This record gives sequence, C-alpha cells and structure tokens, in this order.
Amino acid sequence: MELFIIPLGTASAIPTRTRHLSSVALWRAGRLLLFDCGEGTQYQLMAAGLKLSRLEAVFITHFHGDHFYGLFGLLATLAMINRTNPLVVVGPAGIGQVVETLPGLSEKERGYPIRYVELPDDFTQAVVFETPEYVVTARPVVHRVFTVGYRFAERTRPGRLDVARAQALGVTQPEQYRALKRGRTVQVGDRIVHPEQVLGPPIPGRTFAYLTDTRPCENGRLLAEGVDLLYHEATFSEAHHALAVERGHATAREAAELARAAGARRLLLGHFSARYEDPTPLVAEAQAVFPNTEAAEELKRYVLPPHTPRQTSLQATANGTEERGR
Ligand SMILES: [Zn+2]
Ligand SMILES: [Zn+2]
Repeated sequence: MELFIIPLGTASAIPTRTRHLSSVALWRAGRLLLFDCGEGTQYQLMAAGLKLSRLEAVFITHFHGDHFYGLFGLLATLAMINRTNPLVVVGPAGIGQVVETLPGLSEKERGYPIRYVELPDDFTQAVVFETPEYVVTARPVVHRVFTVGYRFAERTRPGRLDVARAQALGVTQPEQYRALKRGRTVQVGDRIVHPEQVLGPPIPGRTFAYLTDTRPCENGRLLAEGVDLLYHEATFSEAHHALAVERGHATAREAAELARAAGARRLLLGHFSARYEDPTPLVAEAQAVFPNTEAAEELKRYVLPPHTPRQTSLQATANGTEERGR
C-alpha cells in the first residue's frame, strides 16, 4: 500500500523565493490528507502532481495566517471542479465559522458539505479522523496561540496466514481463510481453529507526526512516539535559542532531542526562518543529536515503506547501531 509524504511549504511566517508557506501532503493509496494549508498550497499540490479531487481531510494546526490562509482558495477550487463528496476540516474551534462566513464559500455556494472537527483550547487529546485503515489523533502543543499537533497511524494488521498450517488443521474453505485472516475463529468439523494458531505476528502500521509552531513539549513527544517519520519545525538554530523560546518555536537541536526522546525513526526539519537561506547548518546541528535528520525538501517524496514483523525488529536494530556508530 503506497504511503508517502510530500512537504509543500517549508517557510516560516513569510514565503521566500525558494520556500512556500506551511503545508505537508500525505498520500495513501490514492487518498490525500493535508497538514496545514498556507497560502499557495493548491499550486504546490498541483506541482507535486497530487490530485485535488482525492483530498479527504485537512488538518490545521493554529490560526496564524501562514498555516491556513491557503484553505479558502483550495476550498473554492474544489467547488470549481464540481466536488460533491464531503470534506473533513479539522482545526481549532472557530474554523467552521471562519469558512462558512467567507463570502462565496457557504455550503450552498460551494456545492459540497464540509464536516468540521473543532478542537476547544482545553482539549487534551482526541481522535480527529479515522477510517478502517488508519487513525489521526491530535494533542495541544505549546506556541504563542492555541496550537494542535497531529499523528497519523495506520492500524495494526493481522499477521500473515500460514496456509500449510491451516490446511493441516483441516481448513479448506476460502471463507474460513478470510475469517481467520480477520482474526476470527472458525469451526472445522468438530474442532475450533483459532487465528493465533495460523497467523504470524501482527504487522504494525506506519506512522507519521506533524509538529510545527511549538516548543518541544511532552504532548509533542507523545505524538511522535516511535513514528517512522517526524516532521518537526526548526525555525531557528541554537544561536537564536532565546528567540525560539520567546516566539514559541523550536531550534533544530530541540527538534532532534524530541525525535530522540520519542524514539522516532527519521526526522524532517521544516518551517525555516527566512534568515537561513541554506538549512545545512540547522541539519548539522540536529544530526549531532539525531543522525537520521534531513531538511524537508519541497515537492520531494518521502516514502514510508510497509512494515513486516521481521523487518520491524531488524530496522530497529539497524537504526540503533547507526545512531550509536555516528
Ligand atoms: Zn508558522
Ligand atoms: Zn505560529
């Protein structure tokens, strides 16, 4: 099952010649999720070759314009291309009113429904979007205004079916195989076959966390716990630590410390201050703490390969060695 992330905008506050405003696309099996929607996001989606019509849900972190002003243009375009299926918009409480009261964007004018999931500023944790395949959770993080961090997680899948073992236990019918694969017991003659007798270890789902416009914090760590890929802001370097604290942002080193504490596999830095034309020093600063760090490159695909039970333990060992080695 194809799953990848494409950073669409990695600038903080103001766009630059080479960087767009905040947004990250997640593409899974033909469905599109968007984390933040800074101005210009719809152009970047097109440049990335991602179909707007596949958009399922948008997750907004907070009400600073560089993170959500692109939503309105995007919603208008969806109306122009005659969308009729519902869209989910998740964000701080009040987001529904902002959209619905904008001239031209009411449901009647748009032609498609939006289901809003609004998070009050005293929420502690919430499931904000889910399908049979994955779930998106949210927790508040620490910024100058109320801000939300997000975690995408595929559900754990049952392990591989050992067909020979199932046959030896007398399983013959396709529907019995299907039931066992789904974790149900089946009756074979006068005997009951349990899924644990024929299924390998469960296959963990892939995970991604999106943390931007936040100080390093416990909720950020929880959202990033064990993720395959963490996108974390690194607005400043340690040289501007005081500024990071004052403005409610993180330094590259702090992002790396959080990735390490959370046991993340891979770190992408973004939301760079315009003062860093080249993010290489930020990456170097982070790599001293968390070697598997890169600067998020706009329009580049970051693929999350599928897990298998065996691969997972091997990868964990390999990563551990790599981190100790460097
Ligand atoms: Zn920002
Ligand atoms: Zn902000």
